[in-house]
Amino acid sequence: MAFGWEQGVLALLIAGSAGLFVRTLAGKLALVAAGAPDRPRTDHAGRRLARTLREVLLQTKVIGGRPVVGTLHAVVFFGFVLFGVETLDHFAHGFGVSLLEPLLGSAYPAWRGLMIGVAVLVSVAILGLAFRRFVLVKTSPDPKSWTSALVALFILVLMLTYLNGVREAPFAPRANWWVHALVILAFPHLILKSKHFHIILAPVSIYLRLDRLGDYATLDLEALMEESETEISLGLETVKDLPWKMRLDFFSCVECKRCTSQCPAALAGNTLDPRGFVLAGRRTLAEAQPTDAVIGRVLTEDALGFCVTCGACEHVCPVGVEHLQVLVGAKRAQALASGRGVVAVDFFHAIESTGNAFAEPKGERKALLDEMELPRFTGAPGEWVLWLGCVWGFNRDQRPAVAAFKRLLDAAHVPYGVLDDEICCGHHSRRQGEEAQYQDLARRTLELLHAKGVQRIVTPCPHCLHTIKREHAQLNGEAALEIVHHSELLAQLATDRRLPLRAGDGTGAVAVYHDPCYLARFEEVTEAPRAALAAAGVVLQELPHARRKTLCCGGGAAGFVRESKGGRRVDQPRREEIAASGATFLVTACPECRMMLDASVERTKDIAEVLAASLALPLPKEQPRAGGSSAKGPDVGEGGTMYRPIEDDPELEARILQMFEHHPKEELQLLDIAGKAHVSCKLCDLRHAADHLVEEGQLCLCRHGGGRYYKLDEHEGKEQHA
Ligand code: SF4
Ligand code: SF4
Repeated sequence: MAFGWEQGVLALLIAGSAGLFVRTLAGKLALVAAGAPDRPRTDHAGRRLARTLREVLLQTKVIGGRPVVGTLHAVVFFGFVLFGVETLDHFAHGFGVSLLEPLLGSAYPAWRGLMIGVAVLVSVAILGLAFRRFVLVKTSPDPKSWTSALVALFILVLMLTYLNGVREAPFAPRANWWVHALVILAFPHLILKSKHFHIILAPVSIYLRLDRLGDYATLDLEALMEESETEISLGLETVKDLPWKMRLDFFSCVECKRCTSQCPAALAGNTLDPRGFVLAGRRTLAEAQPTDAVIGRVLTEDALGFCVTCGACEHVCPVGVEHLQVLVGAKRAQALASGRGVVAVDFFHAIESTGNAFAEPKGERKALLDEMELPRFTGAPGEWVLWLGCVWGFNRDQRPAVAAFKRLLDAAHVPYGVLDDEICCGHHSRRQGEEAQYQDLARRTLELLHAKGVQRIVTPCPHCLHTIKREHAQLNGEAALEIVHHSELLAQLATDRRLPLRAGDGTGAVAVYHDPCYLARFEEVTEAPRAALAAAGVVLQELPHARRKTLCCGGGAAGFVRESKGGRRVDQPRREEIAASGATFLVTACPECRMMLDASVERTKDIAEVLAASLALPLPKEQPRAGGSSAKGPDVGEGGTMYRPIEDDPELEARILQMFEHHPKEELQLLDIAGKAHVSCKLCDLRHAADHLVEEGQLCLCRHGGGRYYKLDEHEGKEQHA
């Protein structure tokens, strides 16, 4: 282009476009900067940079979850990067200057050939993405939006005008050049006004993301109390409490819905929608006053109650949005305002009064330790503490698993002992937003471990593992204890040939393994349980959601005591997936998962039970139970250990029937029955009572979607299959 009025117009347009861009961007960044202070997020620069390069340049998260769409997106992304260079050259040409040709010299034709190829590929990719979004609407999780359509059109026009411009004899060259230039000048404004803002923000958001999934700030409660006695903000109470990184996340969201598509509560059809609350957060920043409440605007109390803090949403997000900080931040505000969550109140009271999640008297655990003849920890060098956790410690259904693990430790001559005074580690209190209760439990646990001189812990509970390993260590500032999951220890013992397993000719069972969220996603322990099962001759069939992409059993954030409030239970999608696999044998590696998924298929076992069953040792002889034998005789768990025979309980059965009179048409699962009948008894007792009523013909048992449901038996027939 020769110098003349056109260059003048071009210069004005560039200046105007740049000015408008800076103004709009500054407005958005001011909303981010107005956020509450956040934790330092610039440490470990090398690690952060490597992560950013991996996730942005290699598009690992984009391609990983959705290979076809992700690859198309990656092609457009790389085209965008390369055409950035071409764009500079394009505008330089507008002022009669050539940048690339003199710079590249003899390599220029090759560059041009490369860019032609890229332009063709980008055109195909953007047409493919647009076809998916606007034609294949049924399979596309993304909503249609006019900005997405406009962006697709802009990119296509840019590629076509480029391809036309590099021809020997372009069609309408001057008009072609201007169309290309005008689209480029309009593009940045479209970016700022749409979800395509992520092009600018995603690398920043990914770089600043916390290293660890679910790394919650440890509040200095005493300092907060001293600061103000009247106005303490412990969580996300009002809009002004939203920290700057959270605000940046709200603007970074690309609206891809990956988070929602992985959320077990959303899959169950409940009101929780991770993408929904991120977008509501974005709207809130633009519309709300700083003193407006977060709960009610960003996400509802009802939705919050369904979150099991499984981290699936955050783990799959391709732009570094930290959903868990929003969820736990809001739960902290909720807990402060008298704990109005779905689970919270009863759970907090149970912990407060008894130190365990089941509100069981302390003597119940002592009885279990004695009954199972578990050795007490002595503090001898090399001795492990077997940290049972609340479920193994109090739930009688789990005794076969405890007995099996005991048998394995004994078989491998591992020195271990349990602690009489073990209390809840505070995991669920923290995830329910009760930070003060968590810190109290954590401090008491640390004091206990310190007083007993504990150096190493093995636990079956991934929640205890994660909390003691990652979170208690933040409180005492000391070097963390050695703590491993029981599946890790079992895998190691099997590898070291310290467990005489019938490897190769063992059970030969085909099973599905359910990865617990806090073991697989948070602790990244996915191979040890598989290795241990393989050593026992178990052939695994993988579930669609496996390893770090596992689907929650619904027990997280104290979900195992959650009463279902309409809709499907959060555990239902996983149960259905397990049932759909066709497997009849489910292996878990978490007491809570076992409790939640029990009866999904014919047999549900803890990994310890599976390994104990393949021990190439004779089973121990059955011992008569202290206090005499039951009329029914003792139940013998796999691994040869006795556990308590369950007696019929007419009072409990009467309460169940009474409750069903108020719910004559409903099909209810055990946890729902417990909630609605206001009984606090062991799940195995409840199940026994309900099954007895089925035997008596008063209830009927329905199995569908992998779940066991009970309802009033209006007709006859003990068991119905849907
Ligand atoms: S943490 Fe889990 S349950 Fe909560 S919103 Fe995310 S995916 Fe859903
Ligand atoms: S929060 Fe992340 S995963 Fe969810 S819609 Fe936004 S970009 Fe996608």
